[in-house]
Amino acid sequence: MLDSYGVRVVDDKKDKWFRCCVGDCFNKETCIKMSKTSTSLATSHLKNAHNVVPDKTVTTLANMAALEKVKANSMPGFLNNPKRWFQVRHAFVF
Ligand SMILES: [Zn+2]
Repeated sequence: MLDSYGVRVVDDKKDKWFRCCVGDCFNKETCIKMSKTSTSLATSHLKNAHNVVPDKTVTTLANMAALEKVKANSMPGFLNNPKRWFQVRHAFVF
């Protein structure tokens, strides 16, 4: 369900991050570090920050449509080269 609300990125150190694309997080370029084995930090971020829970199918579908639009219109650099995008943003975000 994370993929409905953002993009997963793996950095050079093989750390996994979730790039949240919901609401303000899109503009703030929020990235949440996930543990190697669990996406729970990202999931709790969605729940706590955006009141998103996994079983809201309709919301998810609406978000997916919105996210596809965001991807298509606003993130060409990110989509063409997510790793590069992440490297450029990394120092800035953290
Ligand atoms: Zn967020």
